[in-house]
Amino acid sequence: MTRLLPCLLLLLGTAITPVFAKSSAPSSKYGLVIHGGAGVIARDELTPAREAEYRARLAEALDAGYAVLERGGAALDAVLAAVTILEDSPLFNAGKGSVLNADGICELDASVMEGRTLGAGAVAGVHRIKNPVRLARDVMEKSGHVMMVGDGAEQFARTLDYEMMAPDYFQTDHRRQQLQKAKELEKAKAKKSAALQPEDAYLLRQFKWGTVGCVALDQAGNLAAGTSTGGMTNKKYGRVGDTPIIGAGTYANNATCAVSATGWGEYFIRAGVARDISAQMEYAGRSVAEAARATMAKVGALGGDGGVIALDARGNLAMEFNSPGMYRAHRFTGQARFVAIYAEPATP
Ligand code: ASP
Repeated sequence: MTRLLPCLLLLLGTAITPVFAKSSAPSSKYGLVIHGGAGVIARDELTPAREAEYRARLAEALDAGYAVLERGGAALDAVLAAVTILEDSPLFNAGKGSVLNADGICELDASVMEGRTLGAGAVAGVHRIKNPVRLARDVMEKSGHVMMVGDGAEQFARTLDYEMMAPDYFQTDHRRQQLQKAKELEKAKAKKSAALQPEDAYLLRQFKWGTVGCVALDQAGNLAAGTSTGGMTNKKYGRVGDTPIIGAGTYANNATCAVSATGWGEYFIRAGVARDISAQMEYAGRSVAEAARATMAKVGALGGDGGVIALDARGNLAMEFNSPGMYRAHRFTGQARFVAIYAEPATP
């Protein structure tokens, strides 16, 4: 019995280990994965010059996040460094360059989560915040809440001396044209039948890709995730997608993984995408790649499309999508930078 006792205690200890790790073992591997949205990214629509711009901006965001990790910074700081660069670029559907809603304005959503503490913050439907991902972090750290929306979120930002941007700051001609096309399509459809068919909704969705996100693993072995978006072109005023919903568009837990999603938000909410990937790892012992694949298959079976990036605390990653393309990139210790757009792998 005396010999059995230590084994018994060990077993008991394992059984009562909390499902989330407060701190994870330091990792020798660190790095980050980013995305700039998933969708129909047709080669013929993207000129070589435009493609080069996307690649350059993805690489810049990647390097900014990596630099934070390299000097021993926290995963969440790396996420913020990468995502704010993508928000500031008019190329992506987040921050400047966001798609327009049915009223012709940008309504922005963002969220962040830390894997060590399971702390999370989110904002939805903000109109005047340059970097919604920053405000999401402040909601997490300074508001005592997890999610704040609309005017209230902006009122909170004012208490922290955020600069309020003019709504025009976010808008680009390209997005205005997309809204016009989306409205024409909707009108043409309305003439034929009252309801918008799923194929048409799918078509409208093509005017929206460019949501941005990041998952990072730092030298202390901590994970973090963040996602930011303008949502979907011609979305109804007040519509909120998966991006700011913790467990749908964003999730992080050191014991499992960090996830950032992009795609048709209504489906990602219903499938609880980010949390579903984490739960499969927690309850079914699946690897991050297996879990991401299984979850995206569920999204596809529901009729939704898009993709996820996911990373576990050992640096295993997944970039899974069921759309023809996803802007994506990663950089890890001892590995070359990887940047890709279309389904097939690209050379780094
Ligand atoms: N998931 C975002 C939303 O539905 C859009 C996207 O990722 O493309 O708001």
